[in-house]
Amino acid sequence: MTIKKMPKKVIERIAAGEVVQRPASVIKELVENSIDAGAGRIDITFIDGGINYMEVSDNGSGITKEELPLALQRHATSKISNAEDLNNIRTMGFRGEALPSIAAVSELTVISSAEGADEAFLYKVSGASKGELEPAARGKGTTVKIEELFYNVPARKKFLKTVNTEKRHIISTVKSLALSRPDITFSLNEEKNNIFKYTSSNLKERFIVINGKKLWDKVIEVKFKNPFLKITGYITTPEVSYSNKSKISFMVNDRPVYSPLIFHALMHGYRAYIPPNKYPAAVLNLEIEPAVVDVNVHPTKKEVRFVNQQGIHKIVSTVVKNILQNTSAVLEIDEPADIGGNNFKSRPAKEVFRKSSFNRRPSGFPRFGNIDPGKVTKFTFSSAQRSSSTSDGDKKTARLAGRIVPRFQLLKKFIVGEDERGLLLIDQHTAWERINFEKLTKQYRDGSVHSQQDMFPEVIELTPDDAELIKGNAALLDRFGIKVENFGPGSFKIVSTPVIAGKESGGKETIIMIEEIIALLGEYSSSPNTDDLSNKIIETIACRKSIKAGDSLNEKEIKTMIGELMHCRVPHRCPHGRPVIVRISEDELDKRFDRK
Ligand code: ADP
Ligand code: MG
Repeated sequence: MTIKKMPKKVIERIAAGEVVQRPASVIKELVENSIDAGAGRIDITFIDGGINYMEVSDNGSGITKEELPLALQRHATSKISNAEDLNNIRTMGFRGEALPSIAAVSELTVISSAEGADEAFLYKVSGASKGELEPAARGKGTTVKIEELFYNVPARKKFLKTVNTEKRHIISTVKSLALSRPDITFSLNEEKNNIFKYTSSNLKERFIVINGKKLWDKVIEVKFKNPFLKITGYITTPEVSYSNKSKISFMVNDRPVYSPLIFHALMHGYRAYIPPNKYPAAVLNLEIEPAVVDVNVHPTKKEVRFVNQQGIHKIVSTVVKNILQNTSAVLEIDEPADIGGNNFKSRPAKEVFRKSSFNRRPSGFPRFGNIDPGKVTKFTFSSAQRSSSTSDGDKKTARLAGRIVPRFQLLKKFIVGEDERGLLLIDQHTAWERINFEKLTKQYRDGSVHSQQDMFPEVIELTPDDAELIKGNAALLDRFGIKVENFGPGSFKIVSTPVIAGKESGGKETIIMIEEIIALLGEYSSSPNTDDLSNKIIETIACRKSIKAGDSLNEKEIKTMIGELMHCRVPHRCPHGRPVIVRISEDELDKRFDRK
């Protein structure tokens, strides 16, 4: 056998095989280049699963005439210049391999107009032959067209799956790139048909747009930070489950990655909360020092390796578990605790609180303190079930309310009640916050927020900046039923506010509410995300306009509250994520009284 050096063409083709496995991998490389070029918008078009045609067009920085031929040379990159840079990779690309590899197995055309240049150039290469440069027309940015993929590698072409399979790979690749950069507008087209267009947004909205609008109130924000690692993202509540993993994606330093480690950690966190063989939707971005994560494991940079694999696993699973624990439908208390007082006359309710569709046993929940029997205001409720036979509309309300039988108010803070599984404690403030949040959201969406003129308007002093914010956003505030009028220099009258809780408005809370809304207007003044802003405004109003701890509630008010709560889509959590209902199960009570 004679050993010979391989011809350059053969080397190129072998290398191309590593980067370019299928049309979706070409699109991934091209889109990553567009992201690295600072594009705000990326348009992707393919025909026949990308096998015959793919095009990625961006409005990024472009490539100059001089650099066009260079961009297509192996190991030519504008992104790193020395070995140290490898320890600090912030761009998607850095290997300088993608374009030459793709060009080695297709016909590649780049048309680009660089920042500041007033002309565009086209450069076309085929099978890594030397290309030709010619003038072209386009605005700032770059378009890369790929035709006849694998025309010169029949073996590889044979391995391609059906057009539909390749199309599915393209869609999922672009979706995960779009999740990694919600600030960029992405549009994906199959020939002339638009498959999707995601306009520039934030992560939460993009996550929901990609995975289904019905997730809107079923996503929980993930936020974690220690000196080495920051985790941000969204996961779904345990009510949501899918039979496959397709709605789970991870990023490391904003780069979409495939990571069995993070996946395992996520599922570990969900273990007690989701049935076996079911999966949540999730997007997690791990931000970590580039020095302790190796993105260079794989030529397509899809897999990553962490210096401390175990540490990452533990943190991810604990963060997920803790979040789910705090958002359980009804928090169950099952830790040995010393509940004083034994004057709970247990009278099992016939109806069940069906909204809690899962029964979980979180551990580590804070102990339930002593109840001072002296502070229990006693009065009995006529059974909620009994009042259920009036009109049809009433019937529904009463039936739902019947699932929790309210008993009495405790410490002017909680409502004590029961369902067939045990003792319930309901936080009157978070309950009303949830009720008002959902009502106001609906009214706001329908453009029908009920507002009331305040008889004795509160007066608020505002700085000129804040006054501008109020004036500039008068139309928006009007949609929330809020009117603030100028009343002498620096003084403003709060003329009307929304009525939602049936609670008298006015007073200090109204002033605080307006101050908080002004702060939000300031915070969002340069952000295009109006949905996020209106959501936060609704949260603020719902909080400030809700019954508080310390407010006495009579029997009728308690009943109304429970009835309203049962109509909520997410009755178990307030908009800020605090629990509304805590249950001590009958089992648990039996244990405490040595009945078991
Ligand atoms: P890498 O991304 O690893 O640097 P590539 O082969 O993908 O290698 O690209 C080579 C070079 O071509 C990049 O470093 C960049 O300078 C330039 N380039 C490629 N695509 C674009 C684009 N869409 N916009 C601007 N420059 C680009
Ligand atoms: Mg690249």
